[in-house]
This record gives sequence, C-alpha cells and structure tokens, in this order.
Amino acid sequence: MTDTTENQPIVHHWVDGAEYLSTSGRTAPVYDPALGVVTKQVALADQAEIDAVVASAKAAFPGWRDTSITRRQQVLFTFRELLASRKAELADILTSEHGKVLSDALGEITRGLEVVELATGFPHLIKGEYSENVSTGVDVYSLRQPLGVVGVISPFNFPAMVPMWFFPIAIAAGNTVVLKPSEKDPSAANWLAELFTEAGLPDGVLNVLHGDKVAVDGLLEHPDVKSISFVGSTPIAQYIYETAAKNGKRVQALGGAKNHMLVLPDADLDLTADAAINAGFGSAGERCMAISVVVAVEPVADELIEKITQRMAGLKTGDGRRNCDMGPLVTEAHRDKVAGYIDIAATDGATVVVDGRGIEVDGAAEGFWLGPTLLDNVPVTSRAYTEEIFGPVLSVVRVSSYEEGVALINNGAFGNGTAIFTNDGGAARRFQNEIEVGMIGINVPIPVPVAYYSFGGFKDSIFGSNKAYGVHGFDFFTREKAVTSRWLDPSHGGINLGFPQN
Ligand code: NAD
Repeated sequence: MTDTTENQPIVHHWVDGAEYLSTSGRTAPVYDPALGVVTKQVALADQAEIDAVVASAKAAFPGWRDTSITRRQQVLFTFRELLASRKAELADILTSEHGKVLSDALGEITRGLEVVELATGFPHLIKGEYSENVSTGVDVYSLRQPLGVVGVISPFNFPAMVPMWFFPIAIAAGNTVVLKPSEKDPSAANWLAELFTEAGLPDGVLNVLHGDKVAVDGLLEHPDVKSISFVGSTPIAQYIYETAAKNGKRVQALGGAKNHMLVLPDADLDLTADAAINAGFGSAGERCMAISVVVAVEPVADELIEKITQRMAGLKTGDGRRNCDMGPLVTEAHRDKVAGYIDIAATDGATVVVDGRGIEVDGAAEGFWLGPTLLDNVPVTSRAYTEEIFGPVLSVVRVSSYEEGVALINNGAFGNGTAIFTNDGGAARRFQNEIEVGMIGINVPIPVPVAYYSFGGFKDSIFGSNKAYGVHGFDFFTREKAVTSRWLDPSHGGINLGFPQN
C-alpha cells in the first residue's frame, strides 16, 4: 500500500511480483465495517491497466507451463507452509475489511488452505492415460495441459477462501492467473499474492487486478484470457456466464443461494437449534452456504422457535477483534438492504420474533450493525422468502409433512445447499435422493464439501456445469489432448483408405 497526498492508503494492483501503481485516477472507498469509517481506497483499473496485467500473465505463461512438476510442487509446499504459519496476519486483514470475527476469519483461511493442500497433489490429478496397441503397433495417450491466462473474479464474503478455491489449482496445473477480488475487501488478495511470491512463485504467475465492472468486462472481453472463474450474486453470475461464453471462453460461474434446513419431528431439537444458530448467524449470515430458512415439519415449530430464541439471547454482536460471536455487515448499504427485508416480511404477514435492528453492540456506534433476527410464518410469496437476503435473518416456514417440505425446497429458484435434521436414516436417504440441491447435509447445517470433492449447486446457484475445486477444478484448468502414435516399420506399408480394422 502507498500513501496518497491525503494520507489515505491506496490498495494498488499486484503485477509481476510487485505492487503496480494505478494511474487510472479512479478509486473506491474501503471501510472498516465495525468502525463504520473509510480506512483506505482501492484502485479501480482502466483499460490500459487491464491490458498490462494480462500481458504480464501472458508473458509468464510459457515459462511456468514448462517448469517441472517437481519445482511447481515445491513452490506450492512452501506457500502452504508460509500461509499456515502466518494466517493470523491474514485474519486481521479479513476482519478489518469484511467485519467477520477473528475466529471465523481463521476458519475461512483454513478452508482455503485445504485447497492449497489438494493442489500440492496435482501430479496425480493431471496425469494422462495410455493405451498400448489400440491398433497393431499403434498407441493412444492423453495429455492434460494448462489453458494459459485464466481470470478469477471473487465476491466480498470470502476474500481469501474463494480466490483459493481457484488459484492454487490453476497455478499447479501450469496456468497464470489474473485475480479480480471484490472491491469491498481487496487487501487479502495482495497479501496472498505477495506471500506466493515469497514462496518462490515466478513473477507474473499470480497477478491481482483491482476494479469494478470495467475490470470485469475487460477480462471477459480480453482475447488473451482463456477462462473465467466467477463467484458472486446470481444476476452477475448469469451475466458473466453468457458474456464469457459469447467471447469463446471456458467459464464457471457460481451464484447466490437460499438454503433451507428441513427439520423432521423426530429430530433432536436442542442439537437442531444449535445448528440453526451456527448456520444462520455465523459470519452475520454473509455465507452462500448459510441456512436462511428453517422448514419445520409440524408439530415441532413452536418448541424449535423457543429453543432458537433462547440461544439468540446469548449471542454477542460486536467488533470482530473483540470476543464476539457475530460482527457487522460489510457496508452500510448492505446492512440497510438486509434490514429492509425485515420490513418486507412483516408487511407481508410474517411475525418478527426477534428483531436485530437497534441491537446493543460491543463496538463503535457508527459500525454497520444488524443483530440476529428471527422471523416466523414467513409467507412463501414474500420477497423475504423468495430472494436471497445475505444477512443475519433466519426465517421459519411451517409445513405439515416431509413431502410438503421437499416440494417447497424443490420449487425454489436456488439449489446451492440444504440440510435435513432427523434421526430417521430412511428419511435422510430419501431426502438425498429427492432433493434438487447440489450440496446436502444430513444433520450437518453447512455442508461445504472438503477440497477433494467439488463445490457447486444447481439451478440459479450455478451457471454451466463446472464446479469449483476437487476433480472439477483440475478438469476446468486443463485441456486434454489425445495423441495417436506409431513408429513406422515395414508392416505399416500399403494403401488402405478405410478405417483400420485391427
Ligand atoms: P457481487 O455479484 O456483487 O460481486 C461479485 C464480483 O462481481 C465482485 O468482484 C464485483 O466486483 C463484481 N461485480 C459486481 N457487479 C458487477 C457488474 N455489474 N458487472 C460485472 N462485475 C460485477 O457479489 P458480492 O456481493 O460480492 O458477494 C455476495 C454474493 O456472492 C451472494 O449472492 C452470495 O450468495 C454469492 N456467493 C456465492 C458463492 C457460491 O459458491 N455459490 C460463494 C460465495 C458468495
């Protein structure tokens, strides 16, 4: 970071293994959400800067692609060690720009580290295949090769983890990366890129381009960018998918969510209430795998709501650097939008059981606060039910049967995550078969797959069929060549215009 004349630091781009000072003249404010003040500015790229960053990644590609597997693996191992030993530094950055409590910031980094660890095993995951004698004296084999320069565009809610869903795998496979992080919390990306440089990553292999729609569109249209990996809200994900595809790029675009927890009457309601609290209010509900709707199969709703309400009374909201359970929302505008859904729900006939507006907090009065909120009897026609809220608002919808609950979930626009709480193994098994959602928890409220499985939902939660990380990640960041080979000898002589028969 470099000081401006007004002494407000600017987060600049990271290119060719060093800070790259923006000259675009455009910046956006970065807040400390718990203090409610602007602490720095982030550079917003113009076309010249987009071109410069992509050119750097393009120039680095041939050298990195041809770097031995052993050397690439050593750099990844060193990055893994550095990140594991210095994650507290990164957690401080996450909390100061996103607002999530420090323990949650550390959890985010740990989940990102899992993908780095998976990426260290890349030689096994990008191996080709070999078939000897497919025809007499003819062999066929496949090679998995990198794409070239790949673009990664990430959301505000996981400024470290979501980029790490992609760049470790892309880099392991031999690609070079341009990462465009959210302008709301941009510093984590620079910190990670600098750490990777320290680990021995050659200059230009991982670059950070800061910006807004101009930077995103620049990557979508740039002929030297071969793929786009996007995570963010559904309307933008759809736009990214369509625009990248129109420009001939490989694209994976993960969108928003509205995750339901189906509670059957035989569930342990104490454990279910604990899970609903953790999954509803962790990270102030700003998780794409947060539970935002509890679907209670009667007669459990009243008892479950009582247990959830009791637990909510013990939650401490405040500055993530203090000993709190839940931090602020990321910006004032987002806080106001989320709070607006409480009005919408009430107007549409829901009961506001616990109202998080005006909550007392352990933090500065100017912070972007909204306390945990519980709504009951939310009409499924209300925008508070149909739209993603992305804040600490948990809605309860009452149904009379398992079938009604499943139909409700399957009728929703999103299909990211869901969970069933029950002690009935048969019901859980039926649920995993019938539910139209990509990631399912059985008595697990936030079923984010571990790194060696892949992450992604259905319907409006993903555009295209490429999920993040796991085997899907290696497939996405490589392309396959099939080679048919023979070493000529006299037996191959003669003219034959047909397909070989043996
Ligand atoms: P967002 O869609 O506003 O922004 C995501 C990225 O797109 C950012 O880098 C932003 O700069 C860029 N962007 C924003 N508006 C744009 C525009 N008009 N044109 C081009 N680019 C644009 O999302 P957000 O608010 O940062 O993140 C929260 C959203 O992300 C939620 O909807 C959440 O569910 C979703 N999310 C999904 C997953 C998943 O895996 N499915 C994971 C995390 C977050």
